[in-house]
Amino acid sequence: MSSIGEGPSGAEPHGGNGPELLDRVLAGTPPAESPLRHVERLPARPARHGEWPEWVPARVLRALRARGTELPWSHQSRAAEAAHGGEHVVLATGTASGKSLAYQLPVLAALERDPRATALYLSPTKALGADQLRAVEELGLDGIRPATHDGDTPTEEREWTRAHSRWVFTNPDMLHHSILPRHHRWARLFRGLTHVVVDECHTYRGVFGSHIALLLRRLHRIARHHGSHPVFVLASATIAEPAQLGQRLTGQRCLAVTEDGSPRGARAVALWEPPLLDEITGENGVPVRRSAGAETARVLSDLVLESARCLAFVRSRVGAELAAVGAGRALREVAPELADRVAAYRGGYLPEQRRELERALLSGKLLALTTTNALELGVDISGLDAVVLAGYPGTLASFWQQAGRAGREGGDALVVFVARDDPLDTYLVHHPSAVFDKPVEATVLDPGNPHVLHPHLECAAAELPLGEHDLDAFGGAAAREAVEELRSAGRLRARPKGWYWTSRTPPHRTVELRGSGGQQVMVVEGDTGRVLGTVDPESAHGLVHPGAVYLHRGESFVVDELDTEEGIALVHAEDPEWHTTPREETDITVLETQRGHRLAPSVAAHLGSVEVTSRVVGYLRRLPSGEILDQAPLDLPARRLTTLAVWYTLDQESLTGSAPGSAGLDPARVPGALHAAEHAAIGLLPLFATCDRWDIGGVSTASHPDTGEATVFVHDGHPGGAGFAERGFAALHPWLAATREAIVSCECPAGCPSCVQSPKCGNGNEPLDKAGAVAVLDVVLAGDQAVPTE
Ligand SMILES: [Zn+2]
Ligand SMILES: [Zn+2]
Repeated sequence: MSSIGEGPSGAEPHGGNGPELLDRVLAGTPPAESPLRHVERLPARPARHGEWPEWVPARVLRALRARGTELPWSHQSRAAEAAHGGEHVVLATGTASGKSLAYQLPVLAALERDPRATALYLSPTKALGADQLRAVEELGLDGIRPATHDGDTPTEEREWTRAHSRWVFTNPDMLHHSILPRHHRWARLFRGLTHVVVDECHTYRGVFGSHIALLLRRLHRIARHHGSHPVFVLASATIAEPAQLGQRLTGQRCLAVTEDGSPRGARAVALWEPPLLDEITGENGVPVRRSAGAETARVLSDLVLESARCLAFVRSRVGAELAAVGAGRALREVAPELADRVAAYRGGYLPEQRRELERALLSGKLLALTTTNALELGVDISGLDAVVLAGYPGTLASFWQQAGRAGREGGDALVVFVARDDPLDTYLVHHPSAVFDKPVEATVLDPGNPHVLHPHLECAAAELPLGEHDLDAFGGAAAREAVEELRSAGRLRARPKGWYWTSRTPPHRTVELRGSGGQQVMVVEGDTGRVLGTVDPESAHGLVHPGAVYLHRGESFVVDELDTEEGIALVHAEDPEWHTTPREETDITVLETQRGHRLAPSVAAHLGSVEVTSRVVGYLRRLPSGEILDQAPLDLPARRLTTLAVWYTLDQESLTGSAPGSAGLDPARVPGALHAAEHAAIGLLPLFATCDRWDIGGVSTASHPDTGEATVFVHDGHPGGAGFAERGFAALHPWLAATREAIVSCECPAGCPSCVQSPKCGNGNEPLDKAGAVAVLDVVLAGDQAVPTE
């Protein structure tokens, strides 16, 4: 992303290497208790230079050389050539591979060639946009006039930007709320628009991604109206199927550039599984593992003892600080002089403070820094001796983005992935191929979701009446159906020239790009009235129920009150030692089966729309160690959600029969077996679709009224779906095979949080039958050799 080319300078290289560091960390652990499950050696990658394209203007070239870029890497020139030649392009390469230069070249060349040409840059976060703007400013090229347009920009500056800037740095939110609705005032920008840069585009996934896809279609339409045909240049972390993501996001065919020409040192990646503890037990008395945070603190202190410069990624800010404190404490006992060379890196820091910490780490003044996953895009460090990942960060793209901070040219670095106590992490440490071979995870979004499509068609019509020819870009038949529905609901008016938005109030303000629609719940600090953020209505009961510990940018709050009618949750700042997990009961009704196929005479799989009725019935308070303090009941109303689900059914005989190929279960074991299989499947779907286990839910039952058979459902958690269930249906066999493997790999005797327990189970994780789940999955998998028909 942000940094260009080379690694850090001025730091003394660490004397040891990755495997040696690993040996030191493991020293003293008896082999039988070793947490090490696998070590993968990733060889060094030599630099591959490209050529400066001859169309790069002389003064741009001078500025880049003065900055220290002698020659571009091969991927930079390749992507730049494509974008210069008018091809939409998605560049998907590793951390610190200098993606910025790839879009700076064609944009700056276009701006130099034609004094009326303009460009737009979009980033998911303000901080990243500010970094990228600064990089262009520092080139000191007159006449480009790069400028930011975000929520913090003062009014006079906004006017200046509108009138003069030729390269506007903004974000999707501002594009939606400020630029597109007033596009006539931005006519100069749109008339000359040659390139639209979409940075870190792999972060646009799920419902958010669906919104962005429609927003980019609106942008393209407005640009064409003003007479320009901008080229999209997308930058992404390394992901599966980048070209498809590019096309889904922009609606245009995109060329994918994935061969990374930047040099990289060799790395050893260790997969690490903390031990099961004797002294602490979890829900229903099952064993729990030592927490990833505590294990990370231990690993960090050992690395600091070896003078390795390292960075640890932890899920929450509290967790990041605990890991720093824990490492410091361990060091105080053995090497007190090193104890204060560990620090935590917080979300609230100003950019200058962040840069200062980064410099301290690069110079070796600090040896270890802990940070939250949320800062992944904001951290501008690479070339470290070691990186520790405390828990899977949710996607392989993030995994490699974080791991990419380790490894320098000529060096040999270490990456340690410490598994958390959940099924996906368990699966990954036992199945290295899922991490190191071709990724199976696809960045999923669904611009056809009517809950997202309808409001964007309204916005589009308000920006410029929608003509018949516009509808193809918005999804063709689905868009035609949608405008017809909007017309009959009185939202749009049909006139001979197209569909019009006739209300005086534009619809934009009602659209929440980062949410899934419906009335958002505002999270408000009671004392100060400060609005911390908003929560989707369907997640509110689970995230901001009374008593919930709510994390906002790493800061901790406790919820005092949830008013669902007014859509407000009142919170106060408090940092208790526990965190909370909601317990939810769920029922499912099948509304319509859209696709389906039989896997065997007794087993079938389906995708369809469902109505999910769910109720948060209580919550658990849990210590970072995994120990449960207590369970508190809640009295919240039931909610209904229409969405998509994937489900499979089994007939009675295949479950309880004794014939070969059946599970041979005692009928009393069937509910626990299905329930355990459901929990583990929810835990593993994020390996195949870029979702979080909290974005999806499930139901299992020995006999469902709508299917008449034993059924396991996994459903999307957002209205209309976000593409997750659909991906589960498409990848059913590998997904359920991985689910089975995750259960089998776990060494616990009868089920634990690492395999079949679910943190949000509304039934208190009962009944659960670990062995039964494997038997059920064997029946399903034996039948399903076929690739599902689409
Ligand atoms: Zn287990
Ligand atoms: Zn459950």
